[in-house]
Amino acid sequence: MNVQPQASHFIDGAYIEDTQGERIDVIYPATGAVIATLHSATTAIVDQALASAKCAQKEWASWTATERGRVLRRAADIMRERNHALSVLETYDTGKPYQETSVVDATSGADALEYFGGLAASITGEHIQLGDDFVYTRREPLGVCVGIGAWNYPTQIACWKGAPALACGNTMVFKPSETTPLCALKVAEILHEAGAPAGVYNVIQGYGAVGASLVTDARVDKVSLTGSVPTGRKVYQAAAEGIRHVTMELGGKSPLVIFDDADVENAVSGAILGNFYSSGQVCSNGTRVFVQRGIKDAFLKRLTARLADVKMGDPQDPDVNFGPVVSERQRDIVEGFIAKGVEEGATLVTGGKRVDLDGFFLEPTVFADVTDDMTIARDEIFGPVMSVLDFETEDEVLARANDTAFGLAAGVFTADLTRAHRMAAGFEAGTCYINTYNDAPVEAPFGGSKLSGVGRENSKAAIEHYSQIKGVYVRMRDLEAPF
Ligand code: NDP
Repeated sequence: MNVQPQASHFIDGAYIEDTQGERIDVIYPATGAVIATLHSATTAIVDQALASAKCAQKEWASWTATERGRVLRRAADIMRERNHALSVLETYDTGKPYQETSVVDATSGADALEYFGGLAASITGEHIQLGDDFVYTRREPLGVCVGIGAWNYPTQIACWKGAPALACGNTMVFKPSETTPLCALKVAEILHEAGAPAGVYNVIQGYGAVGASLVTDARVDKVSLTGSVPTGRKVYQAAAEGIRHVTMELGGKSPLVIFDDADVENAVSGAILGNFYSSGQVCSNGTRVFVQRGIKDAFLKRLTARLADVKMGDPQDPDVNFGPVVSERQRDIVEGFIAKGVEEGATLVTGGKRVDLDGFFLEPTVFADVTDDMTIARDEIFGPVMSVLDFETEDEVLARANDTAFGLAAGVFTADLTRAHRMAAGFEAGTCYINTYNDAPVEAPFGGSKLSGVGRENSKAAIEHYSQIKGVYVRMRDLEAPF
């Protein structure tokens, strides 16, 4: 398959190239081979994209919401029809196995386009009666939105940001991570094919500096970032200069608590999904797995046994269920954490090594006897490394689960219904799971508290973050004034 796109950027409804921009080599993580070459946006490209988004916005907002929604729903249909090709591309871009990408990436992108397409026409203001007078509110778009994406879910992130933004009548300039620049171009192409006017959804490539230049441009009204906490801090600060709206979907170090009374198979499934899906490169992963002492041996035994079913190899092979990490750099980072885990005294239960394959493969790795102060229990690793920590009581584990600066997600496995809800209420996290882990349906809000972010993606809550309310006061009687 030829994955070289027609050009690096998609602006004003067309592919456009500017070879003056810094070269971006796209590397297939499963082989280390360069599979496409793109160019970072020059100042002229950034300007062109923003000018196009600015110019298109008023016209797009003047369409009825039903008309805008129809475009999004058509785009969802096209994405589903092309699921196979889009999944193959996502696998080349990220290295995630086709077994995952064929059911998660373009499909969840299509879900977002369909959901917000359907919701668009229901976005309304309200009427507030004040005696004879009244106020009505208009829910209006923000204007030009900038989306900046991480590399783990390039199609999904492009859609999770684009769909609600466009449904509300905004236009968007999206910058994918330079590590995975291919998929968002397809999202732009499909939206355009579905009837989005030129300039409504633009994609430009680039390193952090391009993202930074977008955030401070006077034409930009909102910035939505998916990325790490350090980048989030920089982008939040830069956006504050212009008092711009922000959504920050940042990193995490989420707890997954398994009580003695939990079903062991389900708890192991939750821990696998919350640590090894996408080779552990998921922001909401439950990487601190607190296991009550009575179930620890059974849990570790079943976990180790089930990890024997991991199948690595060419991620395009539908039988392969575990891919490489995204880049050589990311593999070095994860290996550094594994070495720290060993050095600080955690017990290496399984994994920990590179795999004898081309590409950036690492074994799924489990540490037991991890304590709260160890580096692997405190820092986000973003790779296939699970830390298992022991605990005795509910109060103790809740306090320890919350003892982190992050607050993205949290999960609990237990057969005790009231305890499950008590834990969910006590977790300091934006997204909680009971007897499951890492589900992210478009109907439910997704986002973090504490350092993990501000704002919510998906669900009706996202509408709040891509629109603003205008109140209009209407007087029905003569107006009195003091003089
Ligand atoms: P980074 O924070 O390194 O980068 C995120 C994006 O921001 C990239 O497109 C990056 O460009 C860009 N960027 C970097 N510096 C700046 C800047 N100063 N101004 C504007 N943009 C900038 O994250 P990663 O790509 O490494 O992704 C991993 C991180 O993302 C993890 O921490 C993970 O938890 C988080 N994440 C959060 C999710 C959530 O929903 N909460 C979901 C997925 C991931 P470039 O890549 O070119 O440097």
